[in-house]
Formats: sequence, structure tokens, C-alpha cells
Amino acid sequence: MLVGWGGNNGSTFTAAVLANKHQLTWNTKNGQMNSNWFGSITQASTVRLGIDEKGGDVFVTMSKLLPMVHPDDLVIDGWDISPMNLADAMVRAKVIDYDLQQKLRKEMSTMRPRPAIYDPDFIAANQVDRAVNLIRGTRYEQYLQIRADIKDFRDKNKLDRIIVLWTANTERFCEVTKGVHDTSENLEQALRKNNLEISPSTIFAMAAVDEGCCYVNGSPQNTLVDGVIERAEKMGVFVAGDDFKSGQTKLKSVLVDFLVSAGLKPVSIVSYNHLGNNDGKNLSAPRQFRSKEITKSNVVDDMVASNSVLYSPGEKPDHVVVIKYVPYVGDSKRAMDEYTSEILLHGTNTLVVHNTCEDSLLAVPLILDLVLLTDLFCRMAFRKDESSAWAPLHPVLSSLGYLLKAPLVPPGAPVVNALGAQRAALTDLLRACVGLPAAHQLRLEHKVPFLMSELHSGALFKSAPPPKKQKLTHENGDK
Ligand code: NAD
Repeated sequence: MLVGWGGNNGSTFTAAVLANKHQLTWNTKNGQMNSNWFGSITQASTVRLGIDEKGGDVFVTMSKLLPMVHPDDLVIDGWDISPMNLADAMVRAKVIDYDLQQKLRKEMSTMRPRPAIYDPDFIAANQVDRAVNLIRGTRYEQYLQIRADIKDFRDKNKLDRIIVLWTANTERFCEVTKGVHDTSENLEQALRKNNLEISPSTIFAMAAVDEGCCYVNGSPQNTLVDGVIERAEKMGVFVAGDDFKSGQTKLKSVLVDFLVSAGLKPVSIVSYNHLGNNDGKNLSAPRQFRSKEITKSNVVDDMVASNSVLYSPGEKPDHVVVIKYVPYVGDSKRAMDEYTSEILLHGTNTLVVHNTCEDSLLAVPLILDLVLLTDLFCRMAFRKDESSAWAPLHPVLSSLGYLLKAPLVPPGAPVVNALGAQRAALTDLLRACVGLPAAHQLRLEHKVPFLMSELHSGALFKSAPPPKKQKLTHENGDK
């Protein structure tokens, strides 16, 4: 279930799932095109298994390494403050090619987002025109309605599992207060008292968790406050966030890793963006831009901290992020970055990157991966040795950090942003489940995070098979 279903990401995700499921082809000025999942690590990237008898490398598609749900078996629903049906929302987004739009129109016109929670204090004032599809009432009443929506969707479709994913507008950060956001109980009390610092996204997260659903935050705001995480732990569900890592930040987490590990010292990183979609419009408001600025800015910290030859304690490169709204470019975001590094004997090396990235076409495969991997992690359990009990992973899925700009991690665990290390942690975890040794180091999510060395000393994994069709089994059958 997508929060913000009628947005550019939500409508493009729906179009991509349907186009792939029906294996649609469409015509453009460059000829006939076919559907694919390029950009999805589960569907379009491979993992090295080892070598064959002739010494040649053997690779397998990530989705084939473990029993993952097939994208064709997803059922999509969601909420939006804009009532537009998904076909019209796809046209409004201007992302999908015209001929493909025509092929998807009929099916998508039957899909309509459920009314959502709107609080003008949390998203930009410029969104007011589309905010007409709303759940009225107090915050607690809104929470109850979201729970009722989830139940309704589950019952009508007899689903194995529901994952709720926020791809709605970026909210301002909520002011986290002790006694309100810090524990599950305080959060519930504050919700019942209609506390105005409980954001719409936190209400969605609480409703999802209380319905036994995992919750993924694809935007920068601090939805997943301590009280939500405690609630997720009690309910035995998972949360992950924050903010899809799709374009500029993804490249940054590769480039800075490369520079620092090459012994070069990035001293100034300046990132400009301009974009013309509704996300850009919302981010043109200062408080919403601030949320994005925070998730975009912390991304180099761990790489800088890893090299005490280059940086003295506390020293960081100058790092500036600018975002401007330019309606004409629509969803085709322009990202321009300048990286200046100090090199031998205080010379300088400057890299300038210009990236034209079709924003939603980069974000949508990440949504797919987040959903499929979250489902997989729900079916995974481990134990340190044969005498201990099977345990689930930690409720904060930091292994999804590869897909997220500001990875949420279990309390006390280090934040890893370097893309290579994030991917290694993920693929090592998948490899461990099929009994393959780690190709890299691994930080596993459990109440006490432990290292690969412990895994070698006997940790075992098991993973239940995926639900084959959405109508097949009950939770228990799945286990
Ligand atoms: P969008 O503006 O096209 O879509 C957001 C949708 O959310 C809109 O349809 C809006 O009506 C709806 N909405 C707003 N508040 C809501 C609420 N409280 N409940 C339900 N619906 C609500 O934006 P988009 O381009 O689809 O991006 C979605 C989010 O993903 C943004 O926060 C963006 O910052 C984040 N994100 C996008 C990318 C990317 O596209 N490459 C990367 C990282 C993060």
C-alpha cells in the first residue's frame, strides 16, 4: 500500500508493475520498446556465486538467489490527498511514454486512491490545491480509518502480507519531544490527545505497525521516531527508512568512497539540483527543503571518518546542497555536482558531474526492491548455533541501506553510507541464507549486532518459501 499513490512515483510504480506483468510493448520514435525492470537490484542485477568447473565466474540474478515474491504477484492499493484515478495521475506525471499510457489507461482508470491524512503544517503550502481527498476528524480517528483501510484491503484480496510504503510528499521534520515521541505508550497517549506534533506520516506508520504491517519511509522526514520503533519491535514487524537513494546521492556515495579510499581528500562537495515535478514544487518551501538537505548532507560522514590520515577528528569537507524548482524540466531532474579534492603536495583535483536523471524511473525500481526485500526479511530467521532458538532480524532493517539516503539503523549500530559496503552487506546476508560464505564483511541486524566472524563460528539461517500467489496462504502457512 503506497502513501502518495497518485504521485509521480506511485503512478509510475503501478504502470511499471502492470507493463511487466502483461509484457507490454509500445512504440516510440526510436522503435518498439518492451517492459523491463532495469534499475532494480533484485530483478536486474546479479550476485557472484563462485566459479564453475572451468574456473569461470558464475553469476545469478539476485531474485533467483532466494525465494523472493515475483513482482507480478503484487497487489497495489494506497492513499492520496489527491482523488485522481491512477490513469489520470499517470498522465499528470508525464513520465510514461504516450503509447504505453494508452495501453495502461483502461486498467489504471479503475484504480483510485483512498482518502488520506492532510496537515498543511507538515507539507508545503503550495500543495493545498490537490488536498481534497481527505480523512477528516482527530488524529486518533484518522489513525483508526487507516487501520480500517488496511483491513479492508487485506480482506478483499486475501493477502499474505501488506507492506506500507511512504512515497508521498516530503514533510517537515517533527519536533521530537520526550514524553511524546520517545516510547510506544507515550506516542499512543499523544495520538489520543491529538498532539499536533504527530505528523501524518507517523500516524500512517503507527496504523501500519498496529495492523502487523511493515512500514518503509521513502522520504526524508523523521517519521520513524523511537516510539514507532518500539511499537514495531513489540508487534514483530519491520521498519526501514529514510529517503530513496536514487540519483545524485547514490553517485555521491560511490564517488566519495572512491576518492577517500584512493587516498585523495575531498574538501568541497557542492551539489545543485533543479527539477520541475510536484516533488520539486513541494521542496521549494524552506522547511520541506530542510528535511531533504539533512538526508542529502550526512551521506559522506562515515567515509570521511574512516580515514584519519586525510582528516583530523571532527574535520569534514565543505558540503552544500541546493535544490531549485524549474517547472519546465518536469520529472527530468538535473543534478550538477562539483567535487574538489586535495591531492599530492596540496594540488587540487576537481570533478564536475552533470546528471540528467528521470527521477521517478530511478525511484520506482527502488520501491520494488524495498518491498520484495522487506517481505523476504520477514520470512528470515537465524540462530547462533543449534542449541539456541531461531530469532527474527532486528525490527530496523538497516540491510536495506543500499536503497536509502539516510539509513535508519538499530540503536548504537554504525551508519554505513558507502554504496559498495551496503551492497556487500546485503548480498552477504542473502548468500549466508543459502549456506555460501561471505564474499565481504557483514554486519547483521539483531538485537546485538554481530560480525561475520561469528557467523563463521556457526550461525545458521533459515528462510521460508514465498507465498506463490496472493490468494494462497495465511500467515501461519507462510511460516
Ligand atoms: P509527487 O509529489 O509526485 O507525489 C507525492 C504524492 O503524495 C502526491 O500525489 C500528493 O498528492 C501525495 N500526498 C501528499 N501528502 C500526502 C499525505 N499526507 N497522504 C497521502 N498522500 C499525500 O512526488 P514523487 O516524485 O512521487 O516523490 C515522492 C516522494 O519520494 C517525495 O517525498 C520525494 O522527495 C521522495 N523521493 C523521490 C525520489 C525520486 O523520485 N527519485 C528520490 C528520493 C526521494
